[in-house]
Amino acid sequence: MLLTLLGTGCPQVDTRRLGPSQIVRHQGGTYLVDCGSGVTQRLYAAGSSGADIDAVFFTHLHSDHTVDLFQLIISSWHQGRDRPHLIYGPKGTKRYVKGLLKLWEPEFKQRIAHELRSSTVALSADVIEIEEGEIFRAGDLSVTAVDVDHFPVRPAFGFLFETPESRLAISGDTTYCPALIKACKGFDVLVHEVFIHRGESHQMETREDLGSRNVMSYHTASDVVGHVAREAEVGVLVLSHFVPTRFDEEALLHQVCADFDGPILVGEDLMHIDVANRRVLSYGMTMSLGETPEPEAPPPAPTRVRGRKRAKTKLTAKSKKARAKRL
Ligand SMILES: [Zn+2]
Ligand SMILES: [Zn+2]
Repeated sequence: MLLTLLGTGCPQVDTRRLGPSQIVRHQGGTYLVDCGSGVTQRLYAAGSSGADIDAVFFTHLHSDHTVDLFQLIISSWHQGRDRPHLIYGPKGTKRYVKGLLKLWEPEFKQRIAHELRSSTVALSADVIEIEEGEIFRAGDLSVTAVDVDHFPVRPAFGFLFETPESRLAISGDTTYCPALIKACKGFDVLVHEVFIHRGESHQMETREDLGSRNVMSYHTASDVVGHVAREAEVGVLVLSHFVPTRFDEEALLHQVCADFDGPILVGEDLMHIDVANRRVLSYGMTMSLGETPEPEAPPPAPTRVRGRKRAKTKLTAKSKKARAKRL
């Protein structure tokens, strides 16, 4: 299983850290978690494209996680996608996707009539609204949604990607969440969001201070995220979704190391991680992270494979029941 961080930022504009999104690749399948700003550019840089995505999983419907869905849809059409998008997300996802497609309907009609492309099916989507539990299976890959605590945003999910050889957890946006810790106990890799908190306090609290405190209240502070990794006993902690996007990386590592003595990665856009073997494949090198399981054949380089077989997608009984009509 190969994880690529596409965007490690937040709503803040930053050319180094784009909006939150990541892909998981396994057995020829490509799965996108969230659609932050710049997702299609990062997909392209990661050797993939909207035409390759087998399923999109939304952790929650905050705009920084969903804002580039339309760009994904329209660019995948230009990239020759020949099937509808398959989108999983919390309650409200159908309304969001339907509204988005409706909004752009006049442009679709004009483009379809004028550009005469062979297929328009890429401009449609099957949307499945999910609840906690297993939501997806493809080959030996299983995806499970875990309810996380991003109050007042409800529902919000973290996702577990599991195969017989590897286990990956992606926190989504959450404050300290015992249910997530329990669900990802002993996983190889935990990708966790983080709010940089240096513990400054002021005599007089301004409106900005209060706003910042409110933002921190539904994220996981940097003096808490190490506890999460320690309690979950994960192999590797990957920090992502940095709020704010610019910070003192050494100070952050120092802070998190105090609570978690395993390998910690300050995630970067386009960082590739081989989950089963706990290795980083970036900057033209491979770096092992602490103890690794029995070595396997080297993973494929994260480049686009032409003419590969598409992964077979199997819906769980629950998903079938919830299967929506094509929007
Ligand atoms: Zn959020
Ligand atoms: Zn967010």
